[in-house]
Amino acid sequence: MKPIDFRSDTVTKPTPAMRRAIAEAEVGDDVYGEDPTVRRLEERVAERLGLEAAVFTPSGTQANQIAIGAYCRSGDEVLTEAGSHIIQYEGGAVPALWGVQPQPLPGQRGLLTPEQVTESVRPENIHAPRTRLLSLENTHNRGGGSVWPVERFRAVVEAARKAKLAVHLDGARLFNAEVAAGVPASAWAKLTDSTSVCFSKGLGAPVGSVLAGRKDVIYEARRLRKRLGGGMRQAGLLAAAALYALDNHVARLAEDHAHARRLAALLAEVPGVKVDAAQVETNMVFAEFSRPAMEMVDLLTKHGVLTNPAGGPRTLRLVTHLDVSAEDIDEAVARIRRAVA
Ligand SMILES: *Cc1c(COP(=O)(O)O)cnc(C)c1O
Repeated sequence: MKPIDFRSDTVTKPTPAMRRAIAEAEVGDDVYGEDPTVRRLEERVAERLGLEAAVFTPSGTQANQIAIGAYCRSGDEVLTEAGSHIIQYEGGAVPALWGVQPQPLPGQRGLLTPEQVTESVRPENIHAPRTRLLSLENTHNRGGGSVWPVERFRAVVEAARKAKLAVHLDGARLFNAEVAAGVPASAWAKLTDSTSVCFSKGLGAPVGSVLAGRKDVIYEARRLRKRLGGGMRQAGLLAAAALYALDNHVARLAEDHAHARRLAALLAEVPGVKVDAAQVETNMVFAEFSRPAMEMVDLLTKHGVLTNPAGGPRTLRLVTHLDVSAEDIDEAVARIRRAVA
């Protein structure tokens, strides 16, 4: 029985056509700025996001972290939603790498309000850390793959601007937001000082993220990338996969979203499984089971369905992606039905 893998959209493997694009890539030493394919990717992403410049990084974590390092000094503070990737899933990097203190704000499905931002900025006072940066996430992973309405995003950014904060967007799945909302990724990104996007998630590339932003931010980010060991040499092989994904795998994210909606609708009918199908905005389904999450992950694995625990005591996350077909959705629901029976 071939397992159906809903653990994450990071498990996607490069398609044969993407592998050909990799094989044919023109390369050079990118630390010397001589890799034409990396340069082309950086230019394309900056343009597509409505930002001035960009830098290719090995991971989304590194893209977010070099942005934080570019804005903040030791002892500064970053405002971010409590469930954000930079707090939950980056190995404690914000304090460990930069000596920066995150102030976690409670969100609604990962989204904040302008008032929350305004009220959370510290006063100028010798007791307080300096609040320097607001870091947002779109789509919001722990928020359920939720999409920021552009107007709400704009209002929150304006609140940050009034308080003289820089604004970073963790857009690991920004193209999912683009496809779900039907507005270009630049609608959010151009309002920020920097935005990171991931190519190794639903876009199906093997490795790589890009941080795009203001010229001065990206200049500093290049130094920090080198400091963290993220300067790569003939990285055009990886950039070629990302360029291929940008050209061929963005529009198809709509299929992943349709699969997630179908998965949620079918799971809602399985006795012992609770799913709010109305909450599925992109490629993630959060389902509550009647047993503890880890026990449930093991049980489903035995039945050929791979999932991850999602934070709640009985909640699992199922992510649809390039390597999950419409038939896989129906087959997975049948397997889950047998597992919980
Ligand atoms: C996956 C992800 C990242 C980056 O993760 P890497 O594994 O370091 O590439 C960043 N932000 C969010 C919201 C993510 O889901």
